[in-house]
Amino acid sequence: MHRPYTGKVKGVLITRSGDRWYVIVPAEQDASGSKREGRSVGIDVGLNSFAVDSDSAVIENPRFYGRSLNTIKKIQRSIVRKKRFSQNWKKAKSRLEKVYDHITNQKKDFLHKLSRQYVDTHATICVEDLDIKGLKEKGNSTGLHRSIHDASWGRFYSYLAYKAESAGTELVKVDPRNTSQMCSNCGSIVKKTLSERVHECPYCGFVADRDYNAAVNIHRVGMEQPFEPVETIPLHRISVMQVLSMKQEATPFRAW
Ligand SMILES: [Zn+2]
Repeated sequence: MHRPYTGKVKGVLITRSGDRWYVIVPAEQDASGSKREGRSVGIDVGLNSFAVDSDSAVIENPRFYGRSLNTIKKIQRSIVRKKRFSQNWKKAKSRLEKVYDHITNQKKDFLHKLSRQYVDTHATICVEDLDIKGLKEKGNSTGLHRSIHDASWGRFYSYLAYKAESAGTELVKVDPRNTSQMCSNCGSIVKKTLSERVHECPYCGFVADRDYNAAVNIHRVGMEQPFEPVETIPLHRISVMQVLSMKQEATPFRAW
């Protein structure tokens, strides 16, 4: 069992992926309702790193697909060489399915653990509302890569939302307009292209990593706070391995 379930069981769903079977048990549970007191954070999701938050943590982008790409190509080539529908062809096909499954599970594991960490350590989490335009500010890559990012941000948000709800943590979605362009220190609009990684304000002299500046804005807007001098704390990187070694289940309140 992946994890114990609580609440009223609403049904059982059995699915198969490759040669693995999964039993999913949806259960209904009362949301705890009581809001928690405590720290708040703004999270900016991006393309260069998975996320940067207003606590100055930079979450490394997982590249699970890239790491398995050689294996995938090798199996694909071997499939082409085999006789269609032969035993060996089927075997190779199922091997390929397993690799894809593995990648999907790694991705989900990463997002579950990261969202769990944020929910366990914060009473309020502010993110951009990605349903509102503004996505163009997130990067100009298009096609497959773009859609992979969109999908994982969406999944991250939905994991955050349901974990937050049962933990009494508030998830605030803010309008993404100007979160990147605005100076988080003085509120001036400082236009920058996507390739400019540093926010440098000509009006107040504030200099910060572009995504950190955005995360501070997201936090301020979400918390409805006025502009205050922003502390410049050195950014600290959280590697994919560090995220994967985090707990997936609810833990008592603790800081990173
Ligand atoms: Zn400024």
